[in-house]
Amino acid sequence: AAKEHGKGGHFVYVPGMTTRIVAHAELGAQLRDAIELGQLFLLYQPIVRLDDGRTTATEALVRWRHPERGVVPPCDFIPAAEQTGLIVALGRWVLREACRQQARWLRDLGDEAPQSVSVNVAGRQLTDPQFVADVVAALDDAGLDAGRLTLEVTETAVLDRAEAIAALHALRGLRVKLALDDFGTAASSLGLLLTCPVTSLKLDRTFVDGITTVARQEAVATAVIRMAQALELSAVAEGIETEAQARMLRSLGYRFGQGYLYARPLAPHDVAALSAPALIGRRSSI
Ligand code: C2E
Ligand code: MG
Ligand code: MG
Ligand code: MG
Repeated sequence: AAKEHGKGGHFVYVPGMTTRIVAHAELGAQLRDAIELGQLFLLYQPIVRLDDGRTTATEALVRWRHPERGVVPPCDFIPAAEQTGLIVALGRWVLREACRQQARWLRDLGDEAPQSVSVNVAGRQLTDPQFVADVVAALDDAGLDAGRLTLEVTETAVLDRAEAIAALHALRGLRVKLALDDFGTAASSLGLLLTCPVTSLKLDRTFVDGITTVARQEAVATAVIRMAQALELSAVAEGIETEAQARMLRSLGYRFGQGYLYARPLAPHDVAALSAPALIGRRSSI
């Protein structure tokens, strides 16, 4: 296979590399228009109660319907959006759309609706001086109670950033919930539990993968749930794909989970059909 570094660390040309970089730059430029052209859309992955598998909340996950490439996953454009700063506008769109959808579910499904919606927030958004005002505007315009919104932040997004931590305190003061996403994967996380007013931890899926076969993964998952319980935080296990993983997580004390075993990221109508099958007919427009 080709090497990206030659002797002495010199950069060596790798076939295909230029096209990759060009493709990346091209996508970045097109992304600028994607929001206005209405090419972005959200799917919602259920967060379920592990005892009965029922949906308690959802997480909004952005997709880009690209005219030539089809549906582009976030890993192919979120990094570029973060580098260019476009993530601020993109994130604002996601926030508004997710709040509107949550308000629609509450209106149409009543008690059967998912209780809240989670939205992923990049570090660059958290340090934007307008961020807290953007969140308030998104909630107001949707007519959504702040307690119905969870913002998911990663450890690296908040680490050592005073403005980010200040924004989280302001949001918590508004009763917005805060989850630490991909928990356990970044360099330092325990200190954050003292400085950030988070309300839940999302155990990263790398710890769930081999939980039934790798003793160390089980040990980490156990340590995380004990810590969450001691801190009175709720915990969500990510990336549950098998019944055996679910059983193990339940036995360790996890009450909430997310993963392909329960549901893939879904269109709004499919979330409604899953939450309230009796209320939602096939012809419904929800
Ligand atoms: P995340 O927030 O940790 O989201 C979980 C990702 O894991 C999602 O991928 C989801 O589809 C996937 N997943 C869920 N269950 C399973 C499972 O059982 N097995 C496996 N293998 N994967 C599972 P997705 O939608 O491709 O999103 C990837 C990442 O992109 C997200 O990770 C998040 O960091 C980022 N992202 C997505 N939407 C947004 C957004 O609106 N704003 C920002 N800033 N980032 C976003
Ligand atoms: Mg997330
Ligand atoms: Mg996650
Ligand atoms: Mg993750």
